[in-house]
Amino acid sequence: MPDGLARIGHFVGGQSVPGSSGRTGPVYDPAAGVQRAEVALASTVEVDDAVASALDAWSEWGVSSLTKRATLLFKLREILDAHRDELAAAVSREHGKVLDDARGEVARGIENVEFACGVPNLLKGWSNSEVSTGVDIRTVLEPLGVVAGITPFNFPAMVPLWMMANAVACGNCFVLKPSEKDPSTSLLLAEMVQRAGFPDGVLNVVQGDAEAVEALLAHPDVAAVSFVGSTPVARHIYESGTRHGKRVQALGGAKNHMVVLPDADLEAAADAAVSAGYGSAGERCMAISVIVAVGPVADPLVEAIVARIPGVVVGAGNDPASQMGPLITAEHRDRVRSYVQGAADEGATVVVDGSAPGSVPAHGFFLGCSLLDDVKPGMRAYDDEIFGPVLSVVRVPTFDEALALVNANPYGNGTAVFTRDGGVARRFEREVKVGMVGVNVPIPVPVASHSFGGWKASIFGDSSIYGPDGVRFYTRPKVVTSRWPDLGPGALELHFPTNR
Ligand code: NAD
Repeated sequence: MPDGLARIGHFVGGQSVPGSSGRTGPVYDPAAGVQRAEVALASTVEVDDAVASALDAWSEWGVSSLTKRATLLFKLREILDAHRDELAAAVSREHGKVLDDARGEVARGIENVEFACGVPNLLKGWSNSEVSTGVDIRTVLEPLGVVAGITPFNFPAMVPLWMMANAVACGNCFVLKPSEKDPSTSLLLAEMVQRAGFPDGVLNVVQGDAEAVEALLAHPDVAAVSFVGSTPVARHIYESGTRHGKRVQALGGAKNHMVVLPDADLEAAADAAVSAGYGSAGERCMAISVIVAVGPVADPLVEAIVARIPGVVVGAGNDPASQMGPLITAEHRDRVRSYVQGAADEGATVVVDGSAPGSVPAHGFFLGCSLLDDVKPGMRAYDDEIFGPVLSVVRVPTFDEALALVNANPYGNGTAVFTRDGGVARRFEREVKVGMVGVNVPIPVPVASHSFGGWKASIFGDSSIYGPDGVRFYTRPKVVTSRWPDLGPGALELHFPTNR
């Protein structure tokens, strides 16, 4: 192990485990641009151990009472709530996002635990009496067993909580394979789950890369896989997981368009474009990356965005003055920069070049905000998911052309329309082929009681994630049809009935 580097391992069966594969990956402080830790990368052996531990725990957890599950989830919610700042600091340290943003991520993760606390209500199933004379029918929702979650670097607290809160509430045991780029938050979450009193093995964390993922996909005791990450990997996870007979939900990448109509509140639209385009350095699957400016709104809108960019303070995530942190790695920063540097050659206008020397701190994986105008389909900056602080403006003459542009895009994660015209907004809402739509709301991430999911190349499988779809994904229905002979008198029980 190189000198001075922290070592990040796995969490299996309630224990920290260093890992035995001999493979490790670097974990950086992206604001300083230096490696701070190395993370163990699991091989099949560690994955097998984690799945075995989860399966062992499932024999009791799968039949645990709803009262017990709800009690532990409430306790977990209290612990997470008390440690919001610690979680946010861990997220910010390895991901680079600013602390306020990290606190927002933690809050949106906790929402999912709050939703799961309602598990007795969520797992009620449904029933009919007298479907035939003396015959009743009921559908009960049973857990699947061991389920796995594979998560991306950009939300190391929230996305694991999207998955595991509902998975364990529904009676499953969970194996989390977080991103190897910012692995520490997953271990903090695991400790908190343990402190809440969940039995050992209900939540396990295996650190790793594609090798660990392949082992999970092929493991016969893994019943279902939830994945959130980029589209090519999501497609692979879906195809491989289903080929191995698993239930799979795989959420992929995005290219989110914000349509601005001439009647929109220009100041509000410009604020939204800057916040949703550059927040978290554009490393959000719901970030706005394309502004579709309709007709005469284009010039004043571009001017209003340009006026705001110098006000975005770029700096280390733990500096309270910073509004935008660094990118996750040097490679990713260089890739994002290449879109800005290549834009002019493809015919776009580089209005603001955030990659210009001197515009951001010299150390670390920083880039400033970039704004490209006159962007068109067919240009790399339009066609690819950039996942960085780069906003592209596409100018179209009419609303119909804006709608057609959004609908022709292969991705369909999020979109927004900014207008004061209710009729046009309603048409957009009805006709747009995108899974999550904002009306004067730039980042329409659904609250935990509604499910999250895009359309088209932003999702593979037929299940969105968390909320009602989460409960459906992590359970399978059993339908019981019963007829009973009349019973005689039962035993006396005069005390006040309590839950057992
Ligand atoms: P990624 O696809 O590179 O990695 C995601 C996970 O897959 C990680 O755990 C990684 O270890 C694993 N992985 C990577 N390559 C693999 C391979 N070849 N085989 C098997 N597993 C592999 O994504 P990322 O860079 O961590 O995250 C950014 C991407 O995630 C963006 O495309 C973003 O849009 C997307 N994302 C989508 C959502 C959503 O809800 N739709 C949410 C957050 C992020």
